[in-house]
Amino acid sequence: MRLHEYQAKEVFSDAGIPTPDSTLAESVEEVVDAAEDIGYPVAVKAQVHVGGRGKAGGIELAESREEAEEAAESIIGMDLKGYHVDRVLVEAAVDFTDELYVGVTMDRGEGKPVAMVSSKGGVNIEEVAEEDPDAIAREHVDPAFGMHPYQARKAVYDAGIDPAVAGDVAKILTTLYDLWEDKDASDAEINPLMVTSDDEVVAADAVLNVDDDALFRHADLAEMEEEAAEDDLEAKANDYGFDYVRLDGNVGIIGNGAGLVMTTLDLVDYYGGAPANFLDIGGGAKAERVTNALDMVFSDENVDAVVFNIFGGITRGDEVARGINEALESLDEIPKPVVVRLAGTNAAEGREILNTDLVQVEETLEDAVQRTVENAKEVEA
Ligand code: GDP
Ligand code: MN
Repeated sequence: MRLHEYQAKEVFSDAGIPTPDSTLAESVEEVVDAAEDIGYPVAVKAQVHVGGRGKAGGIELAESREEAEEAAESIIGMDLKGYHVDRVLVEAAVDFTDELYVGVTMDRGEGKPVAMVSSKGGVNIEEVAEEDPDAIAREHVDPAFGMHPYQARKAVYDAGIDPAVAGDVAKILTTLYDLWEDKDASDAEINPLMVTSDDEVVAADAVLNVDDDALFRHADLAEMEEEAAEDDLEAKANDYGFDYVRLDGNVGIIGNGAGLVMTTLDLVDYYGGAPANFLDIGGGAKAERVTNALDMVFSDENVDAVVFNIFGGITRGDEVARGINEALESLDEIPKPVVVRLAGTNAAEGREILNTDLVQVEETLEDAVQRTVENAKEVEA
């Protein structure tokens, strides 16, 4: 579960990490009211799950009532990298002299949590990690002991942080580590951690991703879950009861069983395509489930072609085939080419039943994926 910036800031602030004054707003009027309350300048920030919101037009600074109104009008309702913006965070703008980075995540290679600090905050930290790995100081933590204060001081020193704020940054890092552990987080990050001209340190952004399987231990976070899934497609997937993850390619993938869907994803990539999603419709493939799955991929603007990969077991191939026919026959037109691969129980019967006016049928997974990747390339061209 990925929290929104405003939710993560609430959690960080409760733990004692300084954050700017802020209010969540859903309309131009609410933005202006919040801005008047907070005092100018304010930052108006889109609350959607994408990075690099600043560059994409999802963050604007406003120095006056008029500017707050303009910022709200341009950001609320905008499409930010495929996400519709319904809510913005209005927050006291920070007058900063420096942008730092602090983060805690799991280093799987080392099998230990790692705390990181960099003086190169504000920008995409993955790029820093690639181009200039030495610019990020890392300190591994033994979870049995937690993060020792000297480790935080060492990381901050190694990162070359200005001594005037080093103590505060070290304290924020240990707080962030404790919070990461307490909340069963997978990632906790502040980028940028802003330094002001009077040497205050403020979390201007906040990322907190929490292990879904630990949510039962965190009633407060579980309560935030519904609001966190504001993405229309993710919300739809929740309603339909599908396991769904949106990805950034254009090949829509539907399958039954997580392993089968993962394999399909890998093959799409192998044949030069780019998966648009992970969608596991689970057991049973009654027409309604098939219709819902198709609705998911058809309503995703990024999808250019679809592959249906079904392995019949308890769910029989003929049943799935009837479901696919029924779902597609109910549409006036098929918006995107669909390739179906059926295997397992009653697969041959299923292939006979499939209406080839509506779908392309392939016997092997390789053929199905290759054909889908070609379909996607044709639409792109
Ligand atoms: P992200 O790009 O989606 O991670 O959004 P961030 O919250 O990290 O903001 C991106 C950039 O917007 C920051 O690095 C700043 O340069 C700018 N920004 C965000 N909030 C403020 C603010 O309060 N004051 C000022 N001056 N700039 C801000
Ligand atoms: Mn950021």
